[in-house]
Amino acid sequence: MFKSKMQQKKLPFTKAKILDIIKKYPTPFHIYDEKAIRQNARNFLKSFGMLEGFRQFFAVKANPNPYLIKILKQEGMGVDCSSLPELEIAERLEFKGKDIMFSSNDTPAEEFVKARKLGAVINLDDTSHIDFLEKAAGIPDLICFRYNPGPARKGNEIIGKPEEAKYGLTRKQMIESYKIAKNKRARRFGMHTMIISNEINEGYFIETARMMFELAVEVYNKTGVKVEFVNLGGGIGIPYRPEQEPMSYERVARGVKKAYDEIIVKNKLNPIKIFTECGRVITGPYGYLITRVRHIKHIYRDYVGTDASMANLMRPGMYGAYHHVTVLGKENAPKNHVYDVTGSLCENNDKFAIQRKLPEIERGDILTIHDTGAHGHAMGFNYNGKLRSAELLLRSDGSVKQIRRAETMKDYFATLDFRGLEGFD
Ligand SMILES: *Cc1c(COP(=O)(O)O)cnc(C)c1O
Repeated sequence: MFKSKMQQKKLPFTKAKILDIIKKYPTPFHIYDEKAIRQNARNFLKSFGMLEGFRQFFAVKANPNPYLIKILKQEGMGVDCSSLPELEIAERLEFKGKDIMFSSNDTPAEEFVKARKLGAVINLDDTSHIDFLEKAAGIPDLICFRYNPGPARKGNEIIGKPEEAKYGLTRKQMIESYKIAKNKRARRFGMHTMIISNEINEGYFIETARMMFELAVEVYNKTGVKVEFVNLGGGIGIPYRPEQEPMSYERVARGVKKAYDEIIVKNKLNPIKIFTECGRVITGPYGYLITRVRHIKHIYRDYVGTDASMANLMRPGMYGAYHHVTVLGKENAPKNHVYDVTGSLCENNDKFAIQRKLPEIERGDILTIHDTGAHGHAMGFNYNGKLRSAELLLRSDGSVKQIRRAETMKDYFATLDFRGLEGFD
């Protein structure tokens, strides 16, 4: 049976290359594959390009490294921001207003002020935010609302059920909010949703598009507001497990197009532009966490202790998520051992793999933990005095560039003033 490169979990580097890199940049680190990121971005934009006015806004939270975002900008993506530092990244990379979506929740006033200053498209998470925004920064010409379908749709274990999710407005509130915004100064409108995360079921996205197109018709019929774009959010999943299939952008795009023709065109509401704000599927499969085996211990189970931890990759500990592990140089060795692969945090959920079949591992072996290009380094934290690792970029020409240095103890203590302890009794 044909297996795609992704499913074979092939690496874009050899053990020799990594050994060479480690001489300069010690483990652990995340390394990203520029060539693959560019190829995937082109494929994504080409496939969805069949949709009316299509734009993709990269969800900065998935990987806020400005070097990667610059690559995506060159490929033609905008950005989706949800905090002040994320807006700052957009500003420093000179994204134009219309290239920035601001989809936040529980938003502080200063973020609305900044988003307005940059001319970003503001996506509101509640009816009450209309007044809040008006007082903080004024009502922009273009305004967008985020829809939460509640019990009308099923979610999944990462994002939860829509009716239990804190995001967005109910259907009734959506209608009401367009009326209110219209009575204020807004003249242009958009509509947004984000109800799923890491979903590889293609039908789910098409169903979401259908739901949004139907809502666009209802909003028009009830308020006279014609939205100019529908943002379908992010949430396209990736095959973390080798037996999973990647989603076909092509097939999803065709399904969305069909729904658009059947609902939007039929109701003569076209053109309405279609946006996405994917993060995971854009960079996720093209990042790798490289870590060295520090200790092996045999107690009730066999443990492989690495020099990385949950501070570098939280997904396994947080969601029980699967990340594929390759022992460099032992790609073809029989997987006849069973290990828990751990980090050094004093938390027993600091495990990258649990009861995983792997080749025999020795101290000093180098492990590659796959699919860390999104929601990997980005979720890092300092609990237990752990420091975040460096990020490297494997450039299209084969060279390696450090795109973020590793944190040091000095960074860890930067918010403390030890001098204050003198005379503090
Ligand atoms: C997290 C998030 C995204 C990106 O989700 P992915 O699963 O990484 O595609 C997009 N939009 C919003 C509002 C988000 O919160």
